[in-house]
Amino acid sequence: MKYVFVTGGVVSSLGKGLTAAALGTLLENRGVKVTLQKFDPYLNVDPGTMSPYQHGEVYVLDDGAETDLDLGHYERFTHTKLSRKNNLTSGQVYQTVLDKERRGDYLGMTVQVIPHITDEIQKRIREIGAITGSEVVITEIGGTTGDIEGLPFLEAIREFALDVGPGNVCFIHVTYVPFIKAAGELKTKPTQQSVAKLREIGVAPHILVCRCEQPLNKELRQKISLFCNVPYNAVIEEKDVDHSIYELPLVLQRERMDDLVCKTLQIDAPPANMSHWQEIIRKLVAPQHRVRIGVVGKYIELQDAYKSVYEAIIHGGIANDCGVAIEKVDSEEIEKNGAEKVLKDLAGILVPGGFGERGTEGKILAARYAREKKIPYLGLCLGMQIATIEFARNVLGLQGAHSTEFDPQTPHPVIHLLNEQIGVTNKGASMRLGSQPCQLAIGSKAAHLYGAFLIQERHRHRYEFNNKYREAFSGHGFNFSGLSPDGQLVELIELNDHPFFMASQYHPEFLSKPNAPHPLFRGFIAASCAASHLKPH
Ligand code: GLN
Repeated sequence: MKYVFVTGGVVSSLGKGLTAAALGTLLENRGVKVTLQKFDPYLNVDPGTMSPYQHGEVYVLDDGAETDLDLGHYERFTHTKLSRKNNLTSGQVYQTVLDKERRGDYLGMTVQVIPHITDEIQKRIREIGAITGSEVVITEIGGTTGDIEGLPFLEAIREFALDVGPGNVCFIHVTYVPFIKAAGELKTKPTQQSVAKLREIGVAPHILVCRCEQPLNKELRQKISLFCNVPYNAVIEEKDVDHSIYELPLVLQRERMDDLVCKTLQIDAPPANMSHWQEIIRKLVAPQHRVRIGVVGKYIELQDAYKSVYEAIIHGGIANDCGVAIEKVDSEEIEKNGAEKVLKDLAGILVPGGFGERGTEGKILAARYAREKKIPYLGLCLGMQIATIEFARNVLGLQGAHSTEFDPQTPHPVIHLLNEQIGVTNKGASMRLGSQPCQLAIGSKAAHLYGAFLIQERHRHRYEFNNKYREAFSGHGFNFSGLSPDGQLVELIELNDHPFFMASQYHPEFLSKPNAPHPLFRGFIAASCAASHLKPH
């Protein structure tokens, strides 16, 4: 088993996760079986309880783990199957160690960061390789070198490298080389200092990935090489990509990063054949069609809150050779200015998942607008509940219909708490989570798109369609096209008499990849494309 560790320096948000994922793509395409994991130094047990303002999207795995959004990149860029073991937080490490301490497992010893916390971290590095049967384990350490919180993780990988010996470990440090406008120059000092900090801990990077807005010239590479004690050809330029994050594996291949990693790890593997990946990029750079899609949410000012949704929309575009411009629409703006004004130029409208009442009325107005104007609509989780509430109020005439999440006193609770949630008080990891089976109705648009009748999709919710209202809805062209196999839970709805109006209680965005776009997103973009061709410009 071989190990790659990816650390980050200078600033956060350098795209360490993407770099790790893109390396995963390259190694896979050389025939090497990889898995990727993320270590997060914060004390939360998982990000499931964190606000999007703190953390961005919570990414859900098949086994129901609520994880960091970098795991989304890992799944989109590779074929690796991830589980809750692929995301480790300081909170989990301490919880495990403290549980052992309470059980008396440490036999009277003083329990300490070194060796008990660091041992626990190392155990996870070994374990994930064994579980997944991978040849290479890529571990990304969250945070920035120099953070107090991150020290136990860096100490753990230092010890680990000593244990497994040279030729089995490759340290990659992702750093920032800023361009100072006034001087007209790229500056290497922050990188030098970040690497110095890392070497002080005992970790000497084999490869430096330099994030920069301008190309690194020969002199700069030489300077970084000299001051950071890294060979010249291991100073890798990672300029901002021109069109899409999916260009990154090709950028890193050009810089021969995968060759370097294989050499460091003494892996003999043929070069990566990236022709299918190049075709994806071609469709992204020069698509046949173009379309504008609105995503109506309340966290639209945040880059990362709807990460997988944005990616899945792009994938839907790839499937249709269609470039998608994503318009991020604040649902409260619809409340202020009306749906027509805000949404009129969009070819498709998507309402993603969410929690809490703020902005729901704007989303309901958006769903109404899409239904009445026959604009393609895709609702995801809350977006399905919103479509249900809208239909109840405006088609069935059920005044004040709502979800009990937002109005516990509503006269028509068309969305209510799942049975299994009654009495649940803990907020952490307590929703209906992870992959669940769903039966699609014969003759439904969904079955046609999926090309199957039994599907598996990932969930993250507490509320559901209230079955008392099934009859009232079904007579009016509101189709329950996906149900749990026992028929009890509504998982997917679609409207007859509409070019494309579909909404799922589950999160299809977590199963979409650039080379395997999700059927619902493929269908949604196809319908939006068709609709935009019909519209006079
Ligand atoms: N708040 C809703 C629920 O808990 C929707 C959840 C979501 O969109 N992920 O059911």
